[in-house]
Amino acid sequence: MTKQQMLNDLKQECENCRVCEIGKERTNLVFGIGNPDTAKIVFIGEAPGEQEDKEGIPFVGKAGQFLDEYLKKAGIDREKDLYIINTLKCRPFTIKNQKTGIKSNRPPMREEKQACEHFMLRQIEIINPKLIVLCGNNALKSLCGSKYTVTKTHGKLANLEYKGRKAIAIYHPSYLVSYAHSEEKNKELLDDLKFINSFIV
Ligand code: URA
Repeated sequence: MTKQQMLNDLKQECENCRVCEIGKERTNLVFGIGNPDTAKIVFIGEAPGEQEDKEGIPFVGKAGQFLDEYLKKAGIDREKDLYIINTLKCRPFTIKNQKTGIKSNRPPMREEKQACEHFMLRQIEIINPKLIVLCGNNALKSLCGSKYTVTKTHGKLANLEYKGRKAIAIYHPSYLVSYAHSEEKNKELLDDLKFINSFIV
């Protein structure tokens, strides 16, 4: 079986999963995207947002566009080098307005993370990347443990690993786009992505 065939089987299993409420309410499953044969990196984000839920593809909204800009600046080829996944495959949301039914994003809940974790771990096993990039605290803590924070461990700052594979944490683009608005932090993201690129070429 090829990696792609194994991922297709896993995706089918994931499509059928209805463990959480958000799985029952999603528009699209956001399983992951990339070429498992050329990807040297599994890139893990938090969870799909509105646009990702609409398109069924990770990192296609505002944060995704910001990420794409920085990947390009760092010389990383999203389509060839990365297989992009999230800790959750369905969009976590709350109903913002009962009348209109308008939804807003929210962070994943513990039970949702627990229910979805095995999909993420099996994706990593199948793709068997040279490097795992943990985008934001949620992905970092899910894979390496709750004692870590991106602020203290991003880029070269820590020697993270998961089952013998090197892992590197970076700031989550949603954080940089929505809250931080800091040129200094954007520069740190770029430096980290350049380091990641030098590590994989
Ligand atoms: N944020 C994430 O963590 N993942 C996405 O797919 C989009 C935004």
